[in-house]
Amino acid sequence: MTKVTVKTLPDVRGKYVENADLSTLTWFRVGGFADVLFSPADEDDLAHFLRATPTNIPIFVMGVGSNLLVRDGGVRGVVIRLGSGFRQVVVDGLKVTAGAGAIDAQVAKRAAEAGVAGLEFFRGVPGTIGGALRMNAGAYGGETKDVLVSAVAFDRAGKRHVLSNTEMGFSYRHSDAPEELIFTSATFEGQRGDSKDIIARMDQISAQREETQPIRERTGGSTFANPDAALSGGRKSWQLIDEIGARGRVIGDAQVSERHCNFMINRGNASAADLEELIESLRIDVQEKLGVELRWEIRRVGEATQ
Ligand SMILES: Cc1cc2nc3c(=O)[nH]c(=O)nc-3n(C[C@H](O)[C@H](O)[C@H](O)COP(=O)(O)OP(=O)(O)OC[C@H]3O[C@@H](n4cnc5c(N)ncnc54)[C@H](O)[C@@H]3O)c2cc1C
Repeated sequence: MTKVTVKTLPDVRGKYVENADLSTLTWFRVGGFADVLFSPADEDDLAHFLRATPTNIPIFVMGVGSNLLVRDGGVRGVVIRLGSGFRQVVVDGLKVTAGAGAIDAQVAKRAAEAGVAGLEFFRGVPGTIGGALRMNAGAYGGETKDVLVSAVAFDRAGKRHVLSNTEMGFSYRHSDAPEELIFTSATFEGQRGDSKDIIARMDQISAQREETQPIRERTGGSTFANPDAALSGGRKSWQLIDEIGARGRVIGDAQVSERHCNFMINRGNASAADLEELIESLRIDVQEKLGVELRWEIRRVGEATQ
C-alpha cells in the first residue's frame, strides 16, 4: 500500500511524527519505520482521530513494545502510542483505575502504597496496561484476568465501549476482544492488604525476575506461550526448546538466550528477519522432533524488507 502522510490525516491536539523509527520504541531494538506515529492528547482526541481518519488507512496500537517484533520494512499507515494523557492511576478504595499507557509496575506500586493487594504480579511485567489487556499479561501466579473489573476501549469508528471481565474473553496470554479495539483505561479490584507485605512480595517478584530472565537484554519477553500441558507432557516452552538442543542457537545476530530458552536476544545488530527466522526455526524443530505445536506469544507487525 502507498505511504500515509500527515497531510491525509485529520487535525488533532496530539502529536504526529512522520517516518518514525519504531526500532527505538521496542525492547528488541529492531524494525523499520512507521509512516506516521500518533500520540493522542486524550480520549476525545483519539475518538476524533478515529472518526475522521479514512477507514482504508491501517491503524496499529502499540504499548512500550515489550512483546512486539516490528519487521524490518516497517509499518504502513498509522501507529498509535498512548502518551502522558493516558498514564494516570487513581486508587479509590479497593479499585484501581489506570490509563492504558501506564506502566504495569507503576500501577502495582500505586496499589501497594494504597494497601491494595492482588496487583503485585504487575511488578513482573514490563509493559503497559494496554498491552496487559491485549495479552492477559501475568506473572508469578497472577494475571490480568484475576483483577480486571472493566476496560474502556474505542473501536475503529471512534465509538467508546466498556468491556466487562467476561467480555474481554480472557484465556492464557490472550484476549478475544476484537483486534480493532484500542484500550484507553482499565479498572482493577484487589483486596485489602498491608502495604509493607505487598511491597515485600513485589520485591521478591523483582528479585526472581532478575535471576531467571534476561531483563537487561534486547529481548521481547516470552517468545512462545506455554503449550497445553496435556499436549506437551507438562513441559513448558523453554523446556521443549532446551530438549531439542537449541539453547544458545544463533541466526545472524539473534540468539536464543542462554539464561532462559524462551527468550530471544538481539546481540546488537540483529534484524527483525534474523529474529523471526530464529523463532520459526525453533517452532518447526519442536514440531518435527517432539510433535508439539508452539504458538507465538510475541506479536509481529509490519512488512519484511523487499
Ligand atoms: C524482559 C521481559 C519480561 C517479560 N515478562 C513477562 C511476564 O512475566 N508475563 C507476561 O505476561 N509478559 C511478559 N513480558 C511480555 C510483555 O511485557 C507483556 O506482554 C506486556 O503486556 C506487553 O505490553 P506492551 O505495552 O509492551 O505491549 P506491546 O508489546 O507494545 O504490544 C503487545 C500487544 O498489545 C497490543 N496493545 C498494546 N497497547 C494496546 C492498547 N492500548 N490497546 C489495544 N492493544 C494494545 C499491541 O497491539 C500488541 O498486539 C515480558 C517482556 C519482557 C521484555
